[in-house]
Formats: sequence, C-alpha cells, structure tokens
Amino acid sequence: MQKTRYAAAALAAVAALTLSACGGGDSAESESGSSAEAGGESLRIGIKFDQPGLGYDEGGSYSGFDVDVAKYVANELGVTEENIEWVEAPSANRENLLSNNQVDMIFATYSITDTRKEVVDFAGPYFVAGQDLLVPTDSDIAGPEDLEGKNLCSVTGSTSAQKIKDQYPGVQLVEQPGYAECVTAMGGGQIDAVTTDDIILAGLAAQEANAGKFKVVGNTFSEENYGVGLPKGSDRCEAVNEAITKMIDDGAWDEAITSNTEGADYTFNAELNPPTPAPCA
Ligand code: GLU
Repeated sequence: MQKTRYAAAALAAVAALTLSACGGGDSAESESGSSAEAGGESLRIGIKFDQPGLGYDEGGSYSGFDVDVAKYVANELGVTEENIEWVEAPSANRENLLSNNQVDMIFATYSITDTRKEVVDFAGPYFVAGQDLLVPTDSDIAGPEDLEGKNLCSVTGSTSAQKIKDQYPGVQLVEQPGYAECVTAMGGGQIDAVTTDDIILAGLAAQEANAGKFKVVGNTFSEENYGVGLPKGSDRCEAVNEAITKMIDDGAWDEAITSNTEGADYTFNAELNPPTPAPCA
C-alpha cells in the first residue's frame, strides 16, 4: 500500500513536470503548484496499534479516538488522510520516536508529564483519563491497596507502571510491551490484575474474545492528561491546540469519543472532559 502510494505520487510528479514542460512559459509557478497537488504535505503520526477504541490496526486500516483526533488535527494542518503515514508507537518508544525524527507527532494515550517534557513537547491535552484496574469478573480486588503480593501487569515506559513502582512497592509488577499481552496473561491465570488508564482497559474488556471475562474496577487513582507528543522545539504546538479547540467546539470531539467507546462499558469523566488545551511553552 505504501509502495503504491509513492509510485502514484511519483507518476503524478512526472506528469506534472511533463505538462509544465509542454506548456512552457511560467514553468516555475506551474511546477510548484502541480507538485503540491501531486504530493501534498504529509505527516508521520505515531499511534497505538493494539488498543481497541483508541489506536487499533485492523489489518492496515486504523481506528479509534486517537486516530480520529489525529485525522482531524492533520486536516486542520492541511494534510489529508491519504497523506498520513501511521507509525506504531508503543509506550516505551514514544520519546525516542520523536527525538530520532521517526515521527512528526504522537497521538497514543500519551500522558503529559514533567519528566517527558524534558525531552519532548506536548500540545493539548485533548482527553483526561484515570488509572484503574482490570480484573477477572469474579475477583474481589477493589483498588491498588488490595494488590499486595498479587501479580499485576502493566506496560514498560508507561506512567501506569511507574506509579505502581513509586507508590505500591509491595506489588509484584510484571511488565509487557503492550496491554493486550497483559490481558492475555490474565486470561491464562498468571496475572491477577492489569493496570493502566480506564479507557484503555474498557476497550480491551469489550473485545469479543474477552466478553464476560473481565471487569474494570471503576476506582481511578490518577489523572492522565492525553497530549499530542511533538519533537522538542516544534513550531506546531499552537496550530495543534487550535485544531483541538475547534474539534471540541464543532461537536466532532463528542462524536469521536461517543462512537469509539460504543459497546464498551465506559463513561468519560464529564467534570474533566473535554479539557482546555494548555498554552504552549
Ligand atoms: N497514559 C499513560 C502513559 O502515557 C498510560 C497509557 C500508555 O501506556 O499509553 O504512559
């Protein structure tokens, strides 16, 4: 698919050059005009590939709330959907993907934190979630204080794993690259609970394969402000914030959060959502 797109763009570019050559005259102007039409501005956007309802790879087509916000913002920046290259951005790789210039922006349930702000910039927030627990339906675990001596799974490089290490050192923390792996391990009985943001857990619990097996405890113990990750020193923060504000004002934000949580047992925190983007540094 990637190849086809580049091939098509290359063909269009050749056609544009040929046309302007035939037309003669003000070739500089028509060349630049045509090449913009043929190629267009593109963006490499980092998302999750394994979080249903947020960022999910359905065999090369991408769905979820993060994907919808990314598409809206990209469009406001003048980039159409076919000019977005979706890049998988696992929790532990996000800062590196931005610092190494492998992506232009990240929409991946990416909490704004002071530590991360030392290496990347953030626009937003565009959503506020809360850390929670997913447990087997018959479990009596009701909060993090019930986890002493239990096996808890979370993801490397996440604020969720960090919070457990900092505040609940008596818990046996098992780290995986993604939350889907944690849920699989809990299905197999090796894990007693999975922890991360409530909206992520609700999306995983609602998957057909997991129907009836797990429940989100519903007792959040953090505030996760989802930001748009940008390379340090990026000049896009203001424009991204304006796009987020527009998305909230015109109703597209509401539509996106509703459609992407449909079928999941999840209601967003209406006191904290939708948030107002913070001024850019
Ligand atoms: N929002 C948290 C974080 O940014 C947890 C979710 C995730 O790992 O993407 O670390």
